Amino acid sequence: MIEDLFINASIIIAFIAILNQVFLKENRINKNSSLILQIIFAILNSILGIILMLYSVNVIQDVIIDFRGVAITLSALFGGFISAIITSIIIGIFRIIYFGATNPSIVAFIDMIIVGILFPIIINKTKTLRNKWLNTALLYNIIVTISWAILIPEYHYLIEMNIIFWIMNFIVSFILYRYIEYIIASNELLAKYRLESTKDFLTGLNNVRKFDEVFNSICNRVIKNKEQLSLLFIDIDFFKKVNDTYGHAVGDMVLKELGKILVKNCRDFDIVSRNGGEEFSVMLINCSSKKAVDIAERIRIAVKNHSFITSIGKSINITVSIGVANYPETIKDINEIKEKADSALYRAKRTGRDKVVLYDNECINCVE
Ligand code: GH3
Ligand code: MG
Ligand code: MG
Repeated sequence: MIEDLFINASIIIAFIAILNQVFLKENRINKNSSLILQIIFAILNSILGIILMLYSVNVIQDVIIDFRGVAITLSALFGGFISAIITSIIIGIFRIIYFGATNPSIVAFIDMIIVGILFPIIINKTKTLRNKWLNTALLYNIIVTISWAILIPEYHYLIEMNIIFWIMNFIVSFILYRYIEYIIASNELLAKYRLESTKDFLTGLNNVRKFDEVFNSICNRVIKNKEQLSLLFIDIDFFKKVNDTYGHAVGDMVLKELGKILVKNCRDFDIVSRNGGEEFSVMLINCSSKKAVDIAERIRIAVKNHSFITSIGKSINITVSIGVANYPETIKDINEIKEKADSALYRAKRTGRDKVVLYDNECINCVE
């Protein structure tokens, strides 16, 4: 019996590894998932329950034992009430169809329905993951004991079976709790690293890596659909002075707030990034050079008029210089758009700062 239950436990562990790839990663299944996803999740867990039944231990005539309750725990834990009840019904029906409509099958069916209703309630009411597993294991043990008391006449055999099953079920539940805890923690870590690899930690905007990734896909789209693309490069004027005068922390606060001003003054679908230090960019899709200059000018004025208030109540004002390039109006090769927006920014700096310069061949090459 112990060996068979060990096989049962191994099946569950292998199944959870697959479940993690399909459902648990990136939190694809949760209590707010769509009904169809909850049903698919429930069916998948039912398959686990069915496989466990096929590898069950025969206690006496028609009475079998396995860890099929775990399938319902998984459904309830990640999917919620609907997933749990569907899983329990499918497992219960399979028990009757496959093993015949005997008394043990009927009792097992009723057990599954009780478990399908009670597990999500217990999981909901219990706080820690460990107690969720242990409480559901405890309830499952009690239900099994009551069912066996009805079905197994030999008193000694009944006690022996119960002791083995109670111990095994608690051990397996504890191992599964540790395994699931590990999976949840590594998934959370992965999600955190993913986010950090694309987001700038200070402003919450795209970082330069994400900028490059989005930029490349937008360029392909723009060429394919014959659209326009405008690019703004924005750099704070004399930012070093802000740091030197008020300290790095105040400089950080200015960067953070500037990020918000940029987002506020762009269109919802424009892509704002912090490309590094005190340099920001905005990708304006399907935007003419005239409209891009208007948006850049709006940003410039919004920044100029904004008072950045330090923690000690001091008000700071800054200005920005903005370089603008547009494909295909002012440049013909989209691969040059970054370089040209940068040239325009450089020109804005050289010619006095606090201004917007649109790259165009005639102007950019002219003498200062
Ligand atoms: P310019 O008008 O020519 O752009 O002058 P500037 O002082 O803004 O330019 P410079 O490139 O000389 O200085 C940029 C400064 O930005 C230097 C650096 O200390 C500061 N900086 C870069 N990243 C950060 C950051 O994350 N936080 C803070 N507080 N400062 C930063
Ligand atoms: Mg700079
Ligand atoms: Mg600067």
